[in-house]
Amino acid sequence: MEKPSRKPPTEDTGFAELGPETAKWKLRKPPDPKRRLRVYALDPSVGKTLDSIAINETTLSVRWDDTPSAPLKPGPVGEYLEIVDIDPASNKLYDPVDLNSYQLLAQDGWPPSEGNPQFHQQMVYAVAMTTIEHFEKALGRKILWAPRDAKTRNGTDEDKRKIYEVPRLRLYPHALRTDNAYYSPDKKAILFGYFPSSSSGDDATAPGSMVFACLSSDIIAHEMTHALLDGLHRRYEEASNLDVLAFHEGFADIVALFQHFTIEEMVHFEIDRVRGDLSAEGLLGALAKQFGEGSGRRGPLRDYVKIDKNTLRYEDEAEAHARGSILVYAVYDAFRKIVGRRTADLVRLATAGSGKLPAGTISPDLVNRLTSETCKVGAARSAHVHSRARLLPAS
Ligand SMILES: [Zn+2]
Repeated sequence: MEKPSRKPPTEDTGFAELGPETAKWKLRKPPDPKRRLRVYALDPSVGKTLDSIAINETTLSVRWDDTPSAPLKPGPVGEYLEIVDIDPASNKLYDPVDLNSYQLLAQDGWPPSEGNPQFHQQMVYAVAMTTIEHFEKALGRKILWAPRDAKTRNGTDEDKRKIYEVPRLRLYPHALRTDNAYYSPDKKAILFGYFPSSSSGDDATAPGSMVFACLSSDIIAHEMTHALLDGLHRRYEEASNLDVLAFHEGFADIVALFQHFTIEEMVHFEIDRVRGDLSAEGLLGALAKQFGEGSGRRGPLRDYVKIDKNTLRYEDEAEAHARGSILVYAVYDAFRKIVGRRTADLVRLATAGSGKLPAGTISPDLVNRLTSETCKVGAARSAHVHSRARLLPAS
């Protein structure tokens, strides 16, 4: 018996028998994905008390920094950043995290862990990329790192300097064994320290436990802002008067503070806990709690809710961080007042016009609406603050 003749398939679709017309598949390209990465919401101290353990971690959605021509390499090393995990104090080089491995892609990266250097690299990358995205959104363009300038090798002309482009900012998660972290304008790098905690028994951070600056989203955002500002206004690293360095410090704190209001679940948690009163909360308006406790301050590194405004004296204060705090307090206080005005109607509706909330927990519906309004004001303030950087006098 003769076999029925079949046309050989023309395309590798498996549907060639249907004819050439129907075999033309149009593959739709999905939009660029976001890379989802798990991080500590603020730092490991949040998970050390039962009250706040529920919001210990969050997942950030960062830009997909990976193309066929420029893949995200282990490190991570991408278009903007290069994480270099050398620990000179221990004489160690930690294996770089490969965020493109399918195991990590499938579970939003490593789970938060103080003992896993690859998670440290992941967290530094995720928070740094988030900060970059906030700046680019407000500026409406790509950010640039400040160029490196160096003397030319021409021995006859020692003073001649050459400018080199810096394609990637380098971040060293374990660069120093000390309670410090800083942006180095010379190295075009951010160096994070780690140290044994000298906290007291009442603190959330146990005395003697290791504190890593690279696990504080506030410290990463603060130092990233120094680097981003240096790229925008290169002469702002020169202290021509007291306000220049104070501005750098204040602006870096403002960016770190307003990034809290992009983590909606944390804002929701705090608003529920303090019944909508932002002047009573303890997580959103404070910076680097674990680092502050670990370095013996008995609380966050800076707290813009509990701060005594009578101590903020512009005419007397010369230290850059303290002088910068005056600007941060003014901006944060204005933010809280705007939130109060924008939510007063919600509170009146929820209290039959009295504006006075009854004792006890408040309605979950009211918490949801207060959270939504607070985050909206936070996002608007954040965009406004970031875009101010563009309008500052150029160097
Ligand atoms: Zn600083």
